[in-house]
Amino acid sequence: MPAIHWFRRDLRVADNPALDAAGPDAVAVFVRDPRFDVGEVRATYLDGALAELASARTLQIHAGDPAVVLGELAERLGAREVFCTADTTPFARKRDATVEDALAQRGVTLRQIDTPYAVPPGELHTQSGGGFRVFTPFYKAWLARGWGSPATTAPSNQALNRWRAFRQGALSQYKKARDFPADPGTSRLSPALHFGQIHPRTILAEIPDPLTDPFARQLAWREFYADVLWHRPEAVWTSLDERFDTQMEYANLEDPVTAAQYEAWTQGRTGYPYVDAGMRQLLTEGWMHNRLRMVTASFLIKDLHLPWQLGARWFLRHLVDADVANNQLGWQWVAGCGTDAAPYFRIFNPVTQGRRFDPDGDYIRRYVPELADVADPHEPGVLAPDYPGPIVDHRVERDVALARFQALGSRASS
Ligand SMILES: Cc1cc2nc3c(=O)[nH]c(=O)nc-3n(C[C@H](O)[C@H](O)[C@H](O)COP(=O)(O)OP(=O)(O)OC[C@H]3O[C@@H](n4cnc5c(N)ncnc54)[C@H](O)[C@@H]3O)c2cc1C
Repeated sequence: MPAIHWFRRDLRVADNPALDAAGPDAVAVFVRDPRFDVGEVRATYLDGALAELASARTLQIHAGDPAVVLGELAERLGAREVFCTADTTPFARKRDATVEDALAQRGVTLRQIDTPYAVPPGELHTQSGGGFRVFTPFYKAWLARGWGSPATTAPSNQALNRWRAFRQGALSQYKKARDFPADPGTSRLSPALHFGQIHPRTILAEIPDPLTDPFARQLAWREFYADVLWHRPEAVWTSLDERFDTQMEYANLEDPVTAAQYEAWTQGRTGYPYVDAGMRQLLTEGWMHNRLRMVTASFLIKDLHLPWQLGARWFLRHLVDADVANNQLGWQWVAGCGTDAAPYFRIFNPVTQGRRFDPDGDYIRRYVPELADVADPHEPGVLAPDYPGPIVDHRVERDVALARFQALGSRASS
């Protein structure tokens, strides 16, 4: 009697303990869930990932409510067990509890094995027994705990090839190069990690000294955010510092001026070239460099005074690597209402950030072609006939943001 392997965020055949546990004869299935709107960019990426997976092993693709689809499939096959890699997002945990119950009613057991992380979210605790709220102690505990070796040697797939090319090339320069968006200094593995085309364990096993390696440290941020969300599932849409939802004064999106400013931000037409380049990279590639994610998020929150949730929603819709833990908590970090947040007063200056991390303006010129012939494309102003002037004055809005923050009452939650 074959078991079923239910693929979700583990779209690979190698180093997949849940797939191994299901056995060589397992019927593998992916269920497209209509409740889960992944947006156009991710839908296309997902199709590619499923096609690659289907070329490596037989895969059935169904659509519908997984509780129903899997139940009917198990009945048809006479399967008694459905295996899957645990998915720890709040949405997935709820869904899987429902699926587990529905399957149990048919006498079928849902077995969740492994997670998309080197250390399962929820496993590490502070000395007082709670979850970590600050990255550095989490990182130390994460390193001290360590992780297992890959379950099986990985045959080549695109994600693994990308990782190995990066390891042989840019990895040694990563610490320095990762902040300069004009050059390919980062791995661009984020969608592959999100969809589980490669497991972080596989990567960590091939890093010579993961205890000190800056790339492994960034992977730990991913693990940290998943862990925070495990303990605080409400953080998907609620500020960890609740004053930001209950007391902070925001601009009103019903106001036509604010609505136009928000629209300009989404389309990369704020008149701040570095911000616009980032937002246009998002629209053209479905991906944005980390430095720009911070700068553009800061601009929405601290220059336009809009709530982080609005920007997080836009990013979720347009990022190919959209990941509820990394995205929502990345936004909360920038807003200053998250875990060990950047202090609220550290407001990204869109001009000095550009001068520092894109000194020659190459990144700006690549994504804002109107400025291709402008010698110094950093300072907003009348730069080109078809390029807008700045929609706000950063120096003024910075002061407004600081004043609004200072007006908040003392922090109620910690
Ligand atoms: C406002 C904001 C929103 C973000 N939204 C997302 C998102 O939806 N999905 C997402 O995967 N990342 C998100 N990030 C984190 C980071 O920007 C991306 O992971 C990174 O840019 C992906 O590119 P890369 O794979 O080349 O990264 P690399 O620099 O090569 O890093 C390797 C991997 O480490 C992890 N990582 C790196 N930096 C971070 C970080 N700061 N936080 C968490 N994990 C990290 C990612 O999995 C990444 O793929 C966000 C950051 C901010 C500030």
